[in-house]
Amino acid sequence: AFRAAGRIANLSVSEILRIGARAGALKKAGHPVIVLGAGEPDFDTPENVVDAAIRAMKAGDTKYTALDGTPELKAAICAKLKRDNGLDYGPAEITVGAGAKQVIYNALMATLDPGDEVIIPTPYWTTYSAMVEIADGVPVLIPCDQASGFRLRAEQLEKAITPKTRWLMLNSPSNPSGAAYAEEDYRPLIEVLMRAPQVWLMSDEIYEHIVYDGFRFVTPAALEPALRSRCLIVNGVSKAYAMTGWRIGYGAGPAVLVRAMAVVQSQSTSNPASISQAAAVEALNGPQDYLAARTESFRQRRDFVVKALNAIEGIDCRVPEGAFYTFANCAGLIGAITPDGQRLEDDRAFCSWLLETAYVATVPGAAFGLSPYFRISYATSMEELREALARIARACGTLA
Ligand code: PLP
Repeated sequence: AFRAAGRIANLSVSEILRIGARAGALKKAGHPVIVLGAGEPDFDTPENVVDAAIRAMKAGDTKYTALDGTPELKAAICAKLKRDNGLDYGPAEITVGAGAKQVIYNALMATLDPGDEVIIPTPYWTTYSAMVEIADGVPVLIPCDQASGFRLRAEQLEKAITPKTRWLMLNSPSNPSGAAYAEEDYRPLIEVLMRAPQVWLMSDEIYEHIVYDGFRFVTPAALEPALRSRCLIVNGVSKAYAMTGWRIGYGAGPAVLVRAMAVVQSQSTSNPASISQAAAVEALNGPQDYLAARTESFRQRRDFVVKALNAIEGIDCRVPEGAFYTFANCAGLIGAITPDGQRLEDDRAFCSWLLETAYVATVPGAAFGLSPYFRISYATSMEELREALARIARACGTLA
């Protein structure tokens, strides 16, 4: 008989995928389903990037590459860190993996011993805690609700740190909340970290380029040079350049950490795809002007969704600073009775009811470790968003 290993026995494929599968089944049955669940831009990969990949293939760039990134891609990443973040990193401090996801996985596998603790503010990208568990670590989840802007506060961090704490994982702008940390939000946290030298900081900056209303993105390593020796910056091309399928992410951190991460990658997947690496070089080195235009398009959609949500009684949505998600509070609808007499016990029940009756797929806050909320990904057309929000409003209007 099949027996799963203990390290994955309590884990499952992501709830988001499960909701996607149910949405797919409803669609197949002929229902007009709108999916607001996907975490990827609806734009195409820029043409210059696609062309670079084609050129690479034709030039025979189709063999194994250096383990954790070609010299050309590492150079492009160093130039990007200098240009966008004012940071000086050398190639020995850069690692490239199959998506930011693999970079995070490598870092946790390379550093966690059984029982080591990782502090994760909630709501968090579901994968964080699952990866910590696979690496035999202990996720320490800290609730950061809407009242605190979905941001971790210094007192909370201070209280959570123990001698066993190895990492603090931060994600700004955040999936799922869209909240971002400004310089003044980081400063008190950095102060706490400076008093706890055993704690490393993993800064997931994958949504760096998607910020609104003049918000100034900062990376903590640039605010406190002393933090650099225990900070891993995680970033990638998936979200900024609409390259989710190409699977290229990167990390910047101390060479000792990067070398340990290379061991994990060397004994599992080896180099990320050669063609994708060539494409990522073009993404990072080529023109960057379309980033602003795309962000402006996301901003219009954010404004529409936030306003439409706040017009619904029982829903309260904070204006997110970045990424392409809203994370709205639905406390006012929990306990409500649907027309067919069902009681909406929690955010899971609410989202599942929305999917089954209004054919709109969203993701419950429970999937991200914080209830009662639900996440909408607004990286879809205005037309679909208009229809979806109208349906949500209509459905909520039938609740008693
Ligand atoms: N980090 C966050 C917060 C994300 O939301 C995602 C994707 O959804 C990733 C990392 C991973 O991105 P990728 O592996 O495509 O680079």
